[in-house]
Amino acid sequence: MIRLFILSLATVFVTLSSVAQERPKPEETEVWEPVPPVVTPGDYAGPQSPPSDAIILFDGTNLDEWVSTRTGKEAGWAVGNGVVSVVQAAGGIHTRRMFKDYQLHLEWRVPEGVEGSGQSRGNSGLFMAWDLERGQGYELQILDSYQNDTYVNGMAGATYKQSIPLVNPMRPPGQWQVYDVIWRAPRFDEAGNLTTPARVTAFMNGILIQDNVEMEGETYYIGQPEYHPFDEAPIHLQAHGDPGPTLSFRNIWIRPLAQD
Ligand code: MG
Repeated sequence: MIRLFILSLATVFVTLSSVAQERPKPEETEVWEPVPPVVTPGDYAGPQSPPSDAIILFDGTNLDEWVSTRTGKEAGWAVGNGVVSVVQAAGGIHTRRMFKDYQLHLEWRVPEGVEGSGQSRGNSGLFMAWDLERGQGYELQILDSYQNDTYVNGMAGATYKQSIPLVNPMRPPGQWQVYDVIWRAPRFDEAGNLTTPARVTAFMNGILIQDNVEMEGETYYIGQPEYHPFDEAPIHLQAHGDPGPTLSFRNIWIRPLAQD
């Protein structure tokens, strides 16, 4: 009887440890090199006014174009002095409008006195398309990558755990960073099968960091990217929950692009 008990205990142990071994770990999708070269961008000349055909997503005064991703109601981030700052307790926010293909301009600032290191240092994210039901999307990483080592497919300008940025044009904390992004949404057939992958081109501080890169699917912390069919989607900004003062954004505008 005791022997049987020990045997079954051993079976449970072996089963549990094999489950633990099979479960994917976040480290498995981290890439640490090659480290993109640091490039010092030109001076930031201040926010430029948007083009005449742009939809203004944030002009410094209100978050009318955004809602809380958690509640679908008021966004709950802090607007003041012409910028909007992340409120961690409110969680992420997304646009009321849905988009397909577009050109997006967004400025972001990691605060002076930022704390933490690696992925816990000024982490946010521009989700170029967000699946509201599944709570997943396609992230262009926002992070303090100024003298801050992390896996390079998770640094600022990376499509998260997919494409490493060509260079690192990060300004120091306290200065504004500028993203200009061209997003071509993935296409699916009527059965929901992928027909054309998503593509992204991105500039950071005026310097090319993603050159018409094909996405492998949604960007995940753990596991391999996958596509899930959608047509239009909102844009989502991440509240990551890092220590210390939080990130700010300003001058966000978008130009939907002609499709196909
Ligand atoms: Mg992020």
